[in-house]
Amino acid sequence: MEFMPVRALFDSHMHTPLCKHAHGEPEDYAARALEQGLQGIIFTCHSPMPAGFWPQVRMSEAEFDVYVAMVDRCHDAFVGELEVRLGIESDYFPGYEGWIEKLHQRAEFHHCLGSVHWQGPEYGAKFNLQDETAFRKIYWDNLAASAETGLFDTLAHPDLIKNYRAATWCFEVCRDDLAAALDRIAQAGVAMELNTSGLHKKFSEMNPGPQMLRMMSERNIPVVIGSDSHVARRVGEGFVIALESLRDAGYTAVSVFKKRKRSEIPISMALASLLLRAGESIQQSASLT
Ligand SMILES: [Zn+2]
Ligand SMILES: [Zn+2]
Repeated sequence: MEFMPVRALFDSHMHTPLCKHAHGEPEDYAARALEQGLQGIIFTCHSPMPAGFWPQVRMSEAEFDVYVAMVDRCHDAFVGELEVRLGIESDYFPGYEGWIEKLHQRAEFHHCLGSVHWQGPEYGAKFNLQDETAFRKIYWDNLAASAETGLFDTLAHPDLIKNYRAATWCFEVCRDDLAAALDRIAQAGVAMELNTSGLHKKFSEMNPGPQMLRMMSERNIPVVIGSDSHVARRVGEGFVIALESLRDAGYTAVSVFKKRKRSEIPISMALASLLLRAGESIQQSASLT
């Protein structure tokens, strides 16, 4: 199917300076999204967590209202040009489910990402970071458990574990544990993310990589696309390649959330929409492969 280029695609994962490791105002991210030919963006900054939980990488609880106001301000500034939606990237950590549940009721979120951030000090302390095999197994189990909480719309960067001791990462060794986790995730009916920031991480590949995308596709797990931008220039980065790899994995549509309800955009339409970036898509495709 051929589509005339119209703005159709969202970047569903990006940050604000409140998480202490992102730069630039939301309006800078929105301006970049317009240049990239996107229809909209969803801010999903790192959730506050109960006192003392890895505070260096997230907004404090006191800043939560500031965050909502900041995204509202950006929304209002771009009305009629770009849809700006409020979301959040919440940590999944066993024992904190009740706290996250309440947090997600504190604002009208469009998209709640759930993340197993194994790099966090609390995670490493609770699970044995030294036993490589066991640690990876536990990650897959936690990923599935995060889906089963029902707290999240989408599981963010779902193979982030490949950056733990990246030199010894082997997809085939993990395949059975991953398959079991994906069965549980498909059963839970939760979407998963294709996160293009993986290209800049230790194991340089999008999250997830092509083998895992294929396994997700076989289970009909919906996919949301996100850049996980911590700087404005990364908004929409790698989206042509991401859409092509989704198509190669067997997908025909990409998902986006509004008021926490999922809808789908055909991949052909999404790809056509990126032609609005003044011919940039072809160059990007060539330089990132
Ligand atoms: Zn994350
Ligand atoms: Zn993020």
